[in-house]
Amino acid sequence: KMGNATQKAELGRSTWKLLHTMTAQYPEHPTTEERKALQQFFMLLSRLYPCGECAAHFQLLLKRYPPQTSSKIAASQWACAIHNKVNERLGKDIFDCSNIQEKYDCGCNTTEDENDS
Ligand code: FAD
Repeated sequence: KMGNATQKAELGRSTWKLLHTMTAQYPEHPTTEERKALQQFFMLLSRLYPCGECAAHFQLLLKRYPPQTSSKIAASQWACAIHNKVNERLGKDIFDCSNIQEKYDCGCNTTEDENDS
């Protein structure tokens, strides 16, 4: 159980960073397997996320707003929208999702190393 608010916030920031960077790198035209993997990743995250209260609430959000896995745009806009649902609940500002790709470019897409993309 995580009782410390600073640690909980730090975990949240790190996790959102990973989630938004992952969806920004997700394929434009994913295979069935890639779609299944992203869907399962979010379902498993909602069970294993170490802040129990956050995990329980996130499970409810996923039921209401199922992960969108059909393309990079769909997945990254969905992740931004779900983060905004959490922002709303916590009384935080709503984030503008229009420049999400640029903000979460991880710099991994180099042509020198294709395994890196
Ligand atoms: P964060 O919300 O962590 O965001 C980090 C940065 O991402 C922001 O500074 C901004 O630059 C950017 N950002 C903000 N909104 C968006 C968006 N919509 N899309 C893309 N980028 C954005 N905390 C709780 O107290 N209770 C909970 O129930 C809870 N549930 C959570 C569930 C999940 C799945 C996750 C990952 C975190 C949860 N958290 C919860 C943590 C909470 O969401 C924040 O991460 C934490 O409060 C720190 O907030 P922050 O203001 O630093 O910014």
